[in-house]
Amino acid sequence: MPDTHALLSPSSSERWINCPPSVRMSEGIEEKPSEYAAEGTAAHSLCEYKLRQMLGYKEPDIRENLDYYNEEMENCTEEYRNYINELLENTQFGGPLMLVEQKINFSKFVKGGYGTSDCIIIDGNTIHVIDFKYGKGVEVDAVNNTQMMIYGIGALEMFDGIYDITNVVMTIFQPRLNNVSTFEMSKKDLYHWAFTVLQPAADMAYQGTGIFKCGEHCRFCKAKSVCRARAEYNLKLAQYDFEMPSALEDIEIESLLGKLDMLISWAEDVKQYALDEAVKGKKWTGYKLVEGRSNRKYTDETVVADKVANAGYDPYEKKILGITAMTKLLGKKKFEELLVGLIEKPQGKPTLVPESDARPEMNTTANAAKDFEEEN
Ligand code: SF4
Repeated sequence: MPDTHALLSPSSSERWINCPPSVRMSEGIEEKPSEYAAEGTAAHSLCEYKLRQMLGYKEPDIRENLDYYNEEMENCTEEYRNYINELLENTQFGGPLMLVEQKINFSKFVKGGYGTSDCIIIDGNTIHVIDFKYGKGVEVDAVNNTQMMIYGIGALEMFDGIYDITNVVMTIFQPRLNNVSTFEMSKKDLYHWAFTVLQPAADMAYQGTGIFKCGEHCRFCKAKSVCRARAEYNLKLAQYDFEMPSALEDIEIESLLGKLDMLISWAEDVKQYALDEAVKGKKWTGYKLVEGRSNRKYTDETVVADKVANAGYDPYEKKILGITAMTKLLGKKKFEELLVGLIEKPQGKPTLVPESDARPEMNTTANAAKDFEEEN
């Protein structure tokens, strides 16, 4: 489940470890509850229910009253259940211990630090910490993931005295992106990180000290629209003469490319903040609130259709179902059987991404010509 109450929560640790003063700066700034978070909470409840069923608990089915429940949620949580089941079956030592939605306490390193781990499995000298992620916006990597490392520390704090643990295996299971990412650390290395990185950052964050540092983590900061450090960082970037990109050297453009997403996202955050405040009644000098464009629409579609039909016209257009709706109608198997050879995937729009992106490089005519030149 998301860690909602702790001041220094594992889920926001990437931000507060990088920018400790962001915690106190964000205090008192309200955020609109997000639909995605509520959907994720519902999916986590179903995961918990399924794992508990697997352990033999007899509890009433929660699906009927579960918000956002649908076929996709059913399938994703089933994949998660199967993954955990497989992990249990493949454990090396007999009788592994499995804990579901386990409260963990890491307050030795982080003041007031507690959280909930989706699933912990102890197998001989190894602790597995598994985190289910229902999001499909960003693929989450387990490697050096501070949230997972905190869960790992929490699990060690709880079980290391009882079992002789040497290793911690941290896994992110993100079914909507087909992503299963695993990262293993020795107990020694994980504790070394906790003492040298986690604890000092947590102390600064709690006290509201430390240095403001901008980065990808700003996206999840409640102070992102009003933060001066972020504004100064992005305004410094904006000093480049964007109107004459040809005057820039390649190396300058390459260095800008990595930063432009941050600049755009900062500009959008500031605009959104200013709009939200204006809607609440704030007057910004030189600006006014107006109505945006809108399209005409029927007040009652059924009445319109009846009237048009009664006048002798057909008010409806017939459209073939989209691929998702058609798969839902036919079921995956029938869909594949019936429509074999009739589905194509057009080439996607070229997108420039960092070389670290997992997608294979696109084959353009220019690329092919360059390869030809190099080969001959
Ligand atoms: S916006 Fe970024 S730099 Fe500013 S407080 Fe938040 S995390 Fe730190």
